[in-house]
Amino acid sequence: MPSYPTLFIDTRKIAHNARLVSGMLAGQGMRLVGVAKAVMGHPAVAKAMIAGGASAIGDSRIENLRKLRESGYTGETLLLRAPSPSRIDETVRFADASLNSDAGTVRLLGEAASKLGKRHEVILMIDTGDLREGVMEEDAVRVAREMSKVPGVEFSGIGTNLACFGGVIPTRVKMESLLSVKKVIEDSLGIPIRRVSGGNSANMRVVMAGDVPPGITELRVGETVILGTEGVGREPVPGLHLDAITLVAEVIEVGKKPSVPFGQIGQDAFGAVPVFVDKGRRTRAILAAGRQDLDPDTLKPVESGIAVIGASSDHLLCDVEDAGRQLRPGDTVTFVTGYSALLRAVTSPFVEKVVR
Ligand SMILES: *Cc1c(COP(=O)(O)O)cnc(C)c1O
Repeated sequence: MPSYPTLFIDTRKIAHNARLVSGMLAGQGMRLVGVAKAVMGHPAVAKAMIAGGASAIGDSRIENLRKLRESGYTGETLLLRAPSPSRIDETVRFADASLNSDAGTVRLLGEAASKLGKRHEVILMIDTGDLREGVMEEDAVRVAREMSKVPGVEFSGIGTNLACFGGVIPTRVKMESLLSVKKVIEDSLGIPIRRVSGGNSANMRVVMAGDVPPGITELRVGETVILGTEGVGREPVPGLHLDAITLVAEVIEVGKKPSVPFGQIGQDAFGAVPVFVDKGRRTRAILAAGRQDLDPDTLKPVESGIAVIGASSDHLLCDVEDAGRQLRPGDTVTFVTGYSALLRAVTSPFVEKVVR
């Protein structure tokens, strides 16, 4: 008998999604860098992305790229988070290219690549407003000049990333400003910029609108390929599977209870003072999974008539009053996950991962 909670990963559905996304990107002159970090770089997922037309695999963690290499993958890799100076050798060993914003780090990459006899491409990140990684536009030429002079690495492109920290929405205008930085660098330094890495799943809305300006050469896409949603409003992208990943948890208690706690109300386990709506007595089920394993806010039951009420560290509470079956301990409930629920499930050692 399988044990729960279990995350089921359907690689055929991921390959299908990758095929559609890579086709959409190709239609606007871009290639797909498939991003597998939401599933801890699971090699089966990365390979499904490649089978579906991704031309490289990107990940923010060097551990994940190493695991991918050790699984036998010989294709192109991209490190998404700027390399840590303490881990430069690993970076050039396991990543063919990296996104960078610090010229000193790039000098370390150059030394390591020369020493290890490896080729390594450097992409300079430009901060176009999200205020996470990247240099400001006014510093782009100066930093690009420094990076392009570093021996041992190839300065091959520029990139940007939005909608991750500041919630800034990628638009055609944002992509055009990246292209204007490209032009200024090319004109000032007299070197060609081959790669323009325009963004992530949050850029899919612009892709769907057919509004990507010519000159962007690639997008780094994880969420849309894995979960089927775009990264701004988390709306489904037509034609994509939304259930390539499912989380199955096991019922450990079922009972009729009031919908509002009784007694004096103070803080919950996480310091919040909870508020409840009185719906009368309802049948609720406790499932053996909690905030250590998932984010209840982005977890959606597949079955109608079941709703997530909330979770503590180890208990997931569901309203099952309207479920089409009588649930008992030992029964299971299946959910689709949003990005944060997936991330937590994948990184929880308590959640089994099954690829099928
Ligand atoms: C995570 C990440 C991506 C992929 O993000 P998705 O929203 O999963 O598509 C792309 N680029 C960078 C720099 C990232 O950190």
